[in-house]
Amino acid sequence: MYDLIIVGGGPAGLTAGIYAVRSGLDTLVLDRSEISGQIALADIVENYPGFPSISGLELMEKYKSHAQEAGVKTKITDVLSVRSEGAKKIVSTDSGDLESRAVIIATGANPKHLDVPGEEELISKGVSYCAICDGPFFRNKTVVVIGGGNSAITDALFLSKIARKVYVIHRRDRLRAAKILQDRAFATSNIEFIFNACVAEIVGSKGEIRRVEKIALNDLKSREIRELATDGVFIYVGIHPNTEIVNVDKDEEGFIKTDRSLETSEKGIYAVGDCRDTNIWQLVAAVRDGALAATAANEYIENFKEQVK
Ligand code: NAP
Repeated sequence: MYDLIIVGGGPAGLTAGIYAVRSGLDTLVLDRSEISGQIALADIVENYPGFPSISGLELMEKYKSHAQEAGVKTKITDVLSVRSEGAKKIVSTDSGDLESRAVIIATGANPKHLDVPGEEELISKGVSYCAICDGPFFRNKTVVVIGGGNSAITDALFLSKIARKVYVIHRRDRLRAAKILQDRAFATSNIEFIFNACVAEIVGSKGEIRRVEKIALNDLKSREIRELATDGVFIYVGIHPNTEIVNVDKDEEGFIKTDRSLETSEKGIYAVGDCRDTNIWQLVAAVRDGALAATAANEYIENFKEQVK
């Protein structure tokens, strides 16, 4: 039996792992892939103290090697469920059940879909949720970016260096993104903003090899629908937490509710990073969560060690 199993090897999970090992806990981090975490998909991170400008992937690789050097064990596997059995925790994976005294859920979140006609069937045929992954396919082409938050504007800026033209389409008359990102985007000549509009449909070309050809735009003021030709559609309308594996209290969107020590409604199960209900989905907040939950889990394990021998 492990002292602590951490589900998810992004920044929050690996930070929890480093803190747990340093507290003397026998710790295992489970993840379904070698490099995980949404941050690995970020072109440039500029708001992580100590690193004025670093690629998300490079930062993630640094976390990974730091965790390995600290003695955190990792296993690549798909976690199916996490539950309590008495004071023991059972983590079911696609390669069998594992047991531990405590669990930290660090499963993060994935991009939400727009849920408009054409979106699902044109994924990877022009519809994308990640500019750094798919942007290079759109050299000198026209793309649209949907959303007005930090993700939309960060990736619109990234795409503006590759594509000929970038339209940012936002449903309100002002952006939600940080002012510094807004200022940069407004000053970029090949980014054009279309406010008060939303996408009614994504339309693909006819024939065997389908690709995005245009979108139908709904003007929310005039209620008129117009078409806009585009080669790609990049969607950034928020995130959806990966929390289906655990049956604990969640908010209406599925983010896990936690107390001050990041414990969930189930004793000995903690939640950290983007999968929990927080008001700041940021790297610095994720690593802080990891440290806090590992410290709390250590205390919990000390108190309950005798019961779960
Ligand atoms: P977000 O901040 O929630 O922004 C989502 C955007 O999508 C909002 O502008 C929202 O419009 C719009 N939207 C939502 N549903 C929509 C729909 N059905 N149709 C059209 N538009 C829709 O999400 P995010 O940008 O993915 O960021 C997630 C978190 O990560 C945030 O906390 C963000 O600060 C953080 N993040 C930080 C950085 C950074 O610091 N560099 C970079 C990326 C992400 P409204 O504004 O009208 O609600």
